[in-house]
Amino acid sequence: MKRIAIIGGGISGLSAAFYLEILRGDGVSLDYTLYESSNRFGGSMFSEHVDGCVVEAGPDSFLTEKPWAETLARDIGLEDQLIGSNDAQRKTYILVNGKLVVIPDGLMFMVPTKLLPAIFTPLFSWSTKLRMAVEWLHPPRRAKEDETVAALVKRHYGPEMVDRLADPLLSGVYGGEAASLSVRAVLPRFADMEAKHGSLGRAMIAARKKMPSAIRRAKPLPLFTSMKTGMQQMVDGVLARVNRAALRTSSPVRELKFRDGVWQVTADGATEAYDAIVSAVPAPAASSLLRATQAELANELGAITYSSSVTVTLGYGKDVLDALPPGFGFLVPRTEGKRMLACTFVHTKFPHRAPPDRALLRVFLGGSRDEQILSVSEDKIVELVRNELRDILAINAEPRFSRVYKWKGAMAQYSVGHLQRLDRIERLRRSLPGLALAGNAYRGIGVPDCILSGKKAAEEIAGPSPRVTEVIPAAASSVAPQQVR
Ligand SMILES: Cc1cc2nc3c(=O)[nH]c(=O)nc-3n(C[C@H](O)[C@H](O)[C@H](O)COP(=O)(O)OP(=O)(O)OC[C@H]3O[C@@H](n4cnc5c(N)ncnc54)[C@H](O)[C@@H]3O)c2cc1C
Repeated sequence: MKRIAIIGGGISGLSAAFYLEILRGDGVSLDYTLYESSNRFGGSMFSEHVDGCVVEAGPDSFLTEKPWAETLARDIGLEDQLIGSNDAQRKTYILVNGKLVVIPDGLMFMVPTKLLPAIFTPLFSWSTKLRMAVEWLHPPRRAKEDETVAALVKRHYGPEMVDRLADPLLSGVYGGEAASLSVRAVLPRFADMEAKHGSLGRAMIAARKKMPSAIRRAKPLPLFTSMKTGMQQMVDGVLARVNRAALRTSSPVRELKFRDGVWQVTADGATEAYDAIVSAVPAPAASSLLRATQAELANELGAITYSSSVTVTLGYGKDVLDALPPGFGFLVPRTEGKRMLACTFVHTKFPHRAPPDRALLRVFLGGSRDEQILSVSEDKIVELVRNELRDILAINAEPRFSRVYKWKGAMAQYSVGHLQRLDRIERLRRSLPGLALAGNAYRGIGVPDCILSGKKAAEEIAGPSPRVTEVIPAAASSVAPQQVR
């Protein structure tokens, strides 16, 4: 029997456990133990229910076009709990000189594909609009080296596009900056489009034309998918379907050694032997654990940096609900001099999030330029968020409740050269039999990518999963999530 240790019980490690469980159920001779250092599973995926509202501490949803999260939800029997974003009401604003300006129609990420909205938007100055027009003549260019997202965007649309759109969008997803994130790792399609077409605008339109007309005319899927009572459902759903005896919370792995073809895992004061390891911890933690075994691999993992994030959720009554602009929320460019990076109008973005007479706002702070926010007290964070919301949205009302969640070192930063680093990591990893790496440090920071990384790690160690169609019956009870605020 193959003995496998999974280290890290966030969604990546849980996904690995679930797909190993499927293989076990299919008769593959394996056994696994999942070690989690904190007192609950889920990592940054955690939901609370407060005052009739669903409060997400970490991820609130996942991109529908990446299928692996939805597949997992189906595999654990939660298909009927999947909900789509309310895209008919989708509208996002950017704060420009203290005013909310709606992102114009036809802007795909930061590539304008419709003429009139791009001309008339107050989001950009006339010089940027001129750059947008000239961009259509951009010649194909195959960059030899990786570069920052800012460098590519500036080349096509100028610096204002970086400040007003690229940076705020990337700080929302990665907690990072366009000036340091790798275009090849973060926006590989843009690098390919530039190489083939030159103009990103023309490339987008060509891609759309190439789509089969049935797909072009089909009703688009919602951009985001979530779970009816919160993303925690996904964590609990997995926990209910894996081997309970294999799950250990408050069990940090302190030491990992590879001796004579056997992995030795030290946790809870004891050392146990395993044939294989799924490392599903953030890269710095993986780096320390692997240092004794493979220093070069540890150095490469240690070079992947992380930023921190703070989310603040505020619940309000009908007065605020009535006064808010329509839409999903707004992004705040750094140049606006605010501490908040973004604010989501949660009650609009998804159904089932708040009673109909309530407003639920979720604000993001932190990111690579504001690690100091972690040392600010929760009360002070709420105060500064309320002050900024007063300036931006004229909200003076007292919130019915507030919740603050601090996520230290939670967002991996794919800096320039990330993909080459992954190649080196892969080569070094292969020199250690039975080691698989999963998590948000590698090929995608979003929930679906993390789930895929866990599934691939399980398959690599124990063989490919059969097509998962049958739902494994839920165990008698699931591990109770602890509050982590
Ligand atoms: C505030 C926030 C909002 C986000 N929003 C979205 C979103 O809306 N959509 C989306 O797709 N993605 C979102 N993300 C990204 C996504 O949620 C994460 O990338 C993903 O959840 C990471 O999962 P993971 O399992 O790889 O890592 P983690 O969740 O970090 O889990 C790693 C686990 O390893 C444990 N651990 C660490 N060291 C040890 C050790 N030595 N021994 C044992 N255990 C250890 C930790 O305690 C932790 O539980 C968001 C992230 C954050 C922080």
